[in-house]
Amino acid sequence: MIDTNLKMNSESSHFNSALPWMIPRAAYLHIPFCAHKCGYCDFASVAGQDDLADRYLIALEAEIRRSLTSRAPVDTIFVGGGTPTRLNASQLFKFCEMTRQYFELAPHGEWTVEANPGTLDSEKVSILRSFGVTRISLGAQSFDTAALAVLERNHKPADVFRSVDLIRNAGLNWSVDLIFGAPGSVMATWENDLETVLNLAPNHLSCYGLIFEKGTLLWKQLQAGLVNPIDEETEANMYESTIDRLAAEGLAQYEISNYAKPGFECRHNLVYWSNDAYFGFGLGAARYQNGLRATNIRDLPGYIKRMENGLDATGPSEQLSPEERARETATLMIRRVQMGINREDFLARTGFILDELATPSILKHVSSGLITDDGTTIRLTRSGVMLGDTVAADFLE
Ligand code: SF4
Repeated sequence: MIDTNLKMNSESSHFNSALPWMIPRAAYLHIPFCAHKCGYCDFASVAGQDDLADRYLIALEAEIRRSLTSRAPVDTIFVGGGTPTRLNASQLFKFCEMTRQYFELAPHGEWTVEANPGTLDSEKVSILRSFGVTRISLGAQSFDTAALAVLERNHKPADVFRSVDLIRNAGLNWSVDLIFGAPGSVMATWENDLETVLNLAPNHLSCYGLIFEKGTLLWKQLQAGLVNPIDEETEANMYESTIDRLAAEGLAQYEISNYAKPGFECRHNLVYWSNDAYFGFGLGAARYQNGLRATNIRDLPGYIKRMENGLDATGPSEQLSPEERARETATLMIRRVQMGINREDFLARTGFILDELATPSILKHVSSGLITDDGTTIRLTRSGVMLGDTVAADFLE
């Protein structure tokens, strides 16, 4: 299981108490319904199947009920999709009620719900707030109508302003997702998006470069020559300008694509980037516990039927060896731009000494200026952040 030259540190080779990768303290719940399938979307989402929402919620509850022996204490809940706020008010109420029935959110816990700006109204915000939701993540993607059209988003920039007002008036935290590099966009498009969102004074932003995921509508248009990606240099400039502009407003880059004012980092996503355990329920949802990574099937009628027949909805799954788990932990932790990988923390979490596992990668990237090493912690440099995925992937080898 473990190479004889790469043994787990003897003092930590048997963990005598539950560690964060063993027992989940975070729960992900998936709501797959959307008004419309966006052109770039590769998520487990469906459009035009809202008539299945009631059965889906019953199926979701069945999945949770058969997995949990008692109400699970958690520090974070993240409801993603799909578009959770596509549920109508009464379905949203039932869903929140069920979530609270099965999960006990710790005092000061974080409960995030993703929302599409076109589907949020005051009634839904008030339901979410009444059940203890603390944070809304708004998928704005752009404020440029041409970019929204290319991305096949079906909301308008005004919906974002309206949604932010509703959330702010309810006293909830909020974040906005933006995408840079849509075909046809130029530097000025992105700069305008940044200035527009900054005018809203956010405490958290997620900014992603557009990816043409295989099989999506946008990918098919790319294959057919109907759209062109923007050039790499412009995309890199957009990314760099994001880091600098947001830093100037006090939004520090704490992960390759995420920026927050101090104390507003997404705690749930930090669980993923620490490779800690988490529950995952619903269509296509991933879960991770004790090194077992499993993902549910992505076929909506199939998922519902399996749950109705008392069957399991697990699709692909993989039991990671201790070394594989440790390497994955390194690839995820290095994404945390500020925290990086602290050697002691890494040893405590994985049982492996970072340098025994990854000396060639560390030396290579320190010498090429992509990571810094102060003796206790390694972190991505600015150049390293620009090549974050490449550096992270090296820790797998
Ligand atoms: S709203 Fe989100 S989940 Fe739904 S289709 Fe668009 S990108 Fe996909």
